[in-house]
Amino acid sequence: MHNMKFLPYLELKPQHQDLRAELNQAFNEVLDSGWFIQGKQLEDFETEYAAYCGSQYCVGVGNGLDALHLILRAYGIGAGDEVIVPSNTYIASWLAVSYAGATPVPVEPDLATYNIDPQKIAAAITSKTKAIMVVHLYGQVADMGPVIAIARQHGLKVIEDAAQSHGAKYKGAISGNLGDVASHSFYPGKNLGALGDAGAITTNDAELAHQLKALRNYGSQVKYHNEVKGYNSRLDELQAAMLRVKLKRLDGWNQQRRALAQQYNEGLQDLPGLVIPFVPSWSEPVWHVYPVRHAQRDALQKHLHDAGIGTMVHYPIPPHLQAAYQEMQLPAGSFPLSEQIHAEILSLPLDPYLSPDDVARVIAAVRDFALGTKT
Ligand SMILES: *Cc1c(COP(=O)(O)O)cnc(C)c1O
Repeated sequence: MHNMKFLPYLELKPQHQDLRAELNQAFNEVLDSGWFIQGKQLEDFETEYAAYCGSQYCVGVGNGLDALHLILRAYGIGAGDEVIVPSNTYIASWLAVSYAGATPVPVEPDLATYNIDPQKIAAAITSKTKAIMVVHLYGQVADMGPVIAIARQHGLKVIEDAAQSHGAKYKGAISGNLGDVASHSFYPGKNLGALGDAGAITTNDAELAHQLKALRNYGSQVKYHNEVKGYNSRLDELQAAMLRVKLKRLDGWNQQRRALAQQYNEGLQDLPGLVIPFVPSWSEPVWHVYPVRHAQRDALQKHLHDAGIGTMVHYPIPPHLQAAYQEMQLPAGSFPLSEQIHAEILSLPLDPYLSPDDVARVIAAVRDFALGTKT
């Protein structure tokens, strides 16, 4: 066992080794074009990614957090407004609301799916609520039907944070085209990742897309004419070119993720104390991560580390308990489901470039722990 090579949680090198020739060619094209910001690569990527999501418009931006923030700005959501957010999420979803000057109002997840529980949204809506932000966490879409029904009833916008769900489906419809507008992150480790920071917004709302194109570029539609106080958050030509190469592989990669997730599901079912992911009948996840839960999570993580297997915790501290949100005065116990998930969740290695042998090795080590531990 100790002779075995350490299996890192995530390694991006094999992917780039595989794509090296195409990425180099794309790099050379951009270099030779002499054009690096808001050019043909961005335009083509926007067209191709909009088509992938089945959306009419795609607006490339600097990163996923900016995508969320610019959406809120474009909707005019700001001081005095409230936005419903999941209590169980990466902090970016909350930060975007705070940046806009509005207040995030957390709603607890469904413990089975880890995504926002639509049954709990209505109680969080006030006269100040302007939007519901759902996050398709770990690559599985939230239960959108009831979310949209509540939003329509109260006249609220539905914003999808699709950072982890490129290609995931809800009742056959694709993530990024399930609400009014969606944000996407192409952080390198996401299912579709750039070679640096990048993000995008998809929507079918022409006016919103038009506003977003100004907001990402100093508030300007026509060079040196600034209609609003915008930002500099553009998806540059090099990153757009890299993303165009990788977008062609996304479906194949997601298919490979599904196969490995299936291998985990079969190898880890019925283990005492171990909770494997639940996939509702309407959901086709893309397995951005493969999360398991165990009451002795830290011991499980250590056991795997000692067996030469890297894991990650997504995430160790919920947003409401972060020092950054101290001012909201939400003490431990405020969001017990979210807190339980954060205490028990563990992401096992899952990447299209892992082999079934790698996954078999992880399964063996998890089984060893679960069967050897009194729970
Ligand atoms: C990665 C991520 C973001 C932020 O994306 P960046 O491109 O890193 O700004 C937002 N929300 C979720 C759920 C994420 O996983």
